[in-house]
Amino acid sequence: MGVKEARANFAERRERIVDERFAWLADEVKKIKIRSVDRIEELVEIAGNNFEKNGIEFHFARDEREAVRVSLEFLEGCESVVKSKSLVSHEIGLPDHLEKSGISVHETDLGDVILSLVKESSRHFTMPAIHISAERVLELFDVSSIDELRQKVREGVRKKIISADGGITGANVISSDGSVLIIENEGNVRLVSSFPERHLVVTGAEKIVGSFEEAVRVAELTWRSAGYEMPSYLNVIGGLSKSGDVEKRVISGLHGPERMAVVVVDNGRIKASRTEFREALYCLRCGACHFSCPSYAALNADWGGVYSGGIGQIWNHITGKTSNPFYCLHCGICSEICPLNINTSEMLLRIKSMLAEKIRKF
Ligand code: SF4
Repeated sequence: MGVKEARANFAERRERIVDERFAWLADEVKKIKIRSVDRIEELVEIAGNNFEKNGIEFHFARDEREAVRVSLEFLEGCESVVKSKSLVSHEIGLPDHLEKSGISVHETDLGDVILSLVKESSRHFTMPAIHISAERVLELFDVSSIDELRQKVREGVRKKIISADGGITGANVISSDGSVLIIENEGNVRLVSSFPERHLVVTGAEKIVGSFEEAVRVAELTWRSAGYEMPSYLNVIGGLSKSGDVEKRVISGLHGPERMAVVVVDNGRIKASRTEFREALYCLRCGACHFSCPSYAALNADWGGVYSGGIGQIWNHITGKTSNPFYCLHCGICSEICPLNINTSEMLLRIKSMLAEKIRKF
């Protein structure tokens, strides 16, 4: 029931959101993404320098192993960390590596909390537990109403956040001036990124754009395409917390974390920017295409891996994971609904023919 209900609710919201401004934004953002992917390596360097200038530690990791190593070094000494939604952290297997190093990891996003109870992985970019019905969720939490659920999750998650020494978030967009933009509705990102003493951002190199103005446009199209006229919160983090109240001298780390690091992961992205899979790097991870895909619905969203759905299979391919392109019917509806008209069907066809070629040679 979960997927069917979510599809119906999304279709209704989307009707209200796709207007003249949406079309204008989509056009602008497509140009921004083309320009940014053209300059992907240069933007990593510019952003890195600016983060450091803003007092934020910066690491560019070529692959999963390097990304995990720098993340573990940054969080060394922590006993527990809290985490908001971050697909890239799962791409590099960070939660498992942290647990193995003796650091307990607690999810704070409601969808991820639900998944941690059923021990399953994400099935949608913005609704990780899309396949689980409301009735099943109430059962899992042993509560009898949505309000009881809200109260139980609120209290449980807050306790974990207050006692954690590290917080991990992803990023929706990175501006090369050295700031991170994170869209959210639940309010957990604000707490995870500001309460613990250390804040780690793990994200992909394709998220960097050339200016703050461009980053805001990308963020607006992302939340609109995900079905929101306005998100509850847009977090912009461009430095450690600071005060200038005493003789205008800078006092850092007053209320926010004392240290913050941004890990930008390549893991196949830069290579992909020069191949027929380049268009996947424009993806906003809004999840709109999942709702329109007939195969995804028929499979009850069970078309996964680290990245889910049709576009997710291209991401699994780019990042060296097992990719399953075979559920794609090549109807092209995903490209029609995608604000950037990303040609998922063509790229999946290419992966199919690459796999066929491998089998032939075997
Ligand atoms: S492919 Fe397009 S519709 Fe699908 S998640 Fe990416 S940006 Fe959104």
